[in-house]
Amino acid sequence: MKYDVIIIGTGLGGLVAGAKLSKEGKKVLLIEQHNKAGGCATTFRRRNFNFEVGLHEMDGLHPRDMKTKIFRDLDVLDKVEFITIPEFYRFTNGRYNITIPHQVSQAIDTLLEVFPDENDGIRAYFDQIIPVRGKKAGSEQDDTSIGEFLDSIIKNEDLKLALLGNLGYFGDDPYSLSLRYYSVAQGSYYTGGSSYIKGGSQKLSDHLAGYILKHGGEILFNHLVTGLKTHDRRITGVIYKKRRDHDSSFIEAEAEYLIANNSIPGLADLLPEQYGSLLNEQISGMEYGASLLTLYLGFNKAPRDLGNQFYSTCMFDPSVKTQADIKTNNRDDFSRRSFIFVDYSQIDSDLSAPGKGVGGICCIDYPDDWDGLDRKEYLLKKEETASLFIERLEKLIPGISSHIDHHETATSLTVRRYTLNPGGAVYGFAQTPGKKVFDPQTILDNLHIASAWGKTGGGFSGAIYGGYLCAFNILRQK
Ligand SMILES: Cc1cc2nc3c(=O)[nH]c(=O)nc-3n(C[C@H](O)[C@H](O)[C@H](O)COP(=O)(O)OP(=O)(O)OC[C@H]3O[C@@H](n4cnc5c(N)ncnc54)[C@H](O)[C@@H]3O)c2cc1C
Repeated sequence: MKYDVIIIGTGLGGLVAGAKLSKEGKKVLLIEQHNKAGGCATTFRRRNFNFEVGLHEMDGLHPRDMKTKIFRDLDVLDKVEFITIPEFYRFTNGRYNITIPHQVSQAIDTLLEVFPDENDGIRAYFDQIIPVRGKKAGSEQDDTSIGEFLDSIIKNEDLKLALLGNLGYFGDDPYSLSLRYYSVAQGSYYTGGSSYIKGGSQKLSDHLAGYILKHGGEILFNHLVTGLKTHDRRITGVIYKKRRDHDSSFIEAEAEYLIANNSIPGLADLLPEQYGSLLNEQISGMEYGASLLTLYLGFNKAPRDLGNQFYSTCMFDPSVKTQADIKTNNRDDFSRRSFIFVDYSQIDSDLSAPGKGVGGICCIDYPDDWDGLDRKEYLLKKEETASLFIERLEKLIPGISSHIDHHETATSLTVRRYTLNPGGAVYGFAQTPGKKVFDPQTILDNLHIASAWGKTGGGFSGAIYGGYLCAFNILRQK
C-alpha cells in the first residue's frame, strides 16, 4: 500500500500533522503501538474516575495564540471544550504561601506585597518573559539559564523559588534551563492564562483522530513500527508488526514522506545503520528532558469541599532554600521531593461524578529511581511512595486521606512503556541554553519531525505547533 505520508505515533504532534495533511487531501497512515490515540495526551478509567495522564494546564489559547488558529482550522474549537483555570498556581514552601494570578499586573502586585524590596527584580523578570511586539526572545548565542538570569536581577531566594513554582513544566534544574525557552513558555501562561480540556485531554486526541478518519486517513492501533526502508537519501517505506503478537509477521507500507512523532533517539534505532549513526552523531550531547511521576487520586468527596481552594499547588520542600537546591531535591527521597498537586475538582473538569473529585500529585522522576528493581520490589516501592505523598497531602489538606477511593502511581518507567520515549522523557530533549536545533533533512530528504523532540519543544503547545509546522513544510514541498 502506498501513502503520501506515514506518521509513526499518535501523540499530539502526530495527530495535528495527520489532521492538517488529511484535510489538505493527502493520504495519511498513522501507526500507533498503544491501543488509543494521544500518547501523553490520554486519560484512563478506574472505578468511576477518569484519570488525566498528561495535562495539568495548557498555556495560551488567546486570540493571537497560534493554537487558536490551529484549533479553528481543525474544528477543535467546535468540538472540544476548554475550561479556564482560575489562577496560575499557589506556591508554598513552609516559609511562604503565595497565590500567583495569571494576569501580569496582578501577579506583580501580589509579589510586590510579599517582597516589597524586590521591585526592580520583579519588573525585570516580567519584562523578560512577556512578549512585546517586535521584541526578539534573544539569540541562541547569547542565551543563558533562567537560574543565572534570576540571580542577576533578584536577591531574595524565596522570591526566585516562588517564580519557579511550576518549573517542573519545563525541566528539572533552573541552571540548565534555557532562559529563551523558559521566557516564551512561561510568558504564554502569563499572557494567555491557561485552560483544561473538559472531560480530559483524550477528548482532544480523539477529536483529532476522528478528524483524520473523516478526511480519509487511516490509523492503525496496537502496531509497532520496527524499521524504515531507504533509498537514495529518501525514506521509501516503514516496516511494522502487531504489538504483543510474537507470531505476527512484518508488514510493509510505502510512503512519499515520513513523519516521526516518536522520539528522535527511537527514530535512530529504526533507520538503517548508515543513517541511524549519522542521526546519533547529530544529536550527541543533547540531553533527554525530565520525566514525571504521577500519583493519581480518586476522591469520594471533592477536595474543594474539604477546604482546598487551588487548582495547582506547588509544594516546595522547606529544605529547598536556594535555586541550587532544586536539582538536588529532584533526586532526593520521595518524602522530601517537591511536588505539584492538581485538584481537577476546582473546575468543571467532568473527570468524576458530581461531589467526587480527581487529583494528581506530580514530581520530577528518573528511571534510575526504579531501574534494577524486580516486579515485586517495584510495586512495593510504588506503594510506599504513594503513602509518603498521601501523608504530605494530608498536611496540606487535613482530612483528605480518608476520602481516597482509588490511588495509582505511574513512574518514569510507566511513561517510557506507554510512549517509548527514552528515560520516559515527557518534554523531548532538555531545553538547555543555546540548545542546537536538529534538522532532519540533513539526514534524509523526506524525513520530518512532529513531536516534543522537534524544534518547538514539548508540552501540549510545543507538540501541537510542531505537528502543524511539519504539515506545512510537507505541503510546501509538495
Ligand atoms: C504526567 C504528565 C503531565 C504533563 N503535564 C503537562 C501540562 O500540564 N501541560 C503541558 O503542556 N504538557 C504536559 N505534559 C507534557 C505533554 O503531555 C507532552 O510533552 C506532549 O503531549 C508530547 O506529545 P508528542 O507529540 O511529543 O508525543 P508523545 O505523547 O510522546 O507520544 C508519542 C507517541 O508515539 C508512539 N510511538 C513511539 N514509538 C512508536 C513506534 N515505534 N511505533 C508506533 N508508535 C510509536 C507512542 O506510543 C506515543 O503514542 C505532561 C506529560 C505528562 C506525562
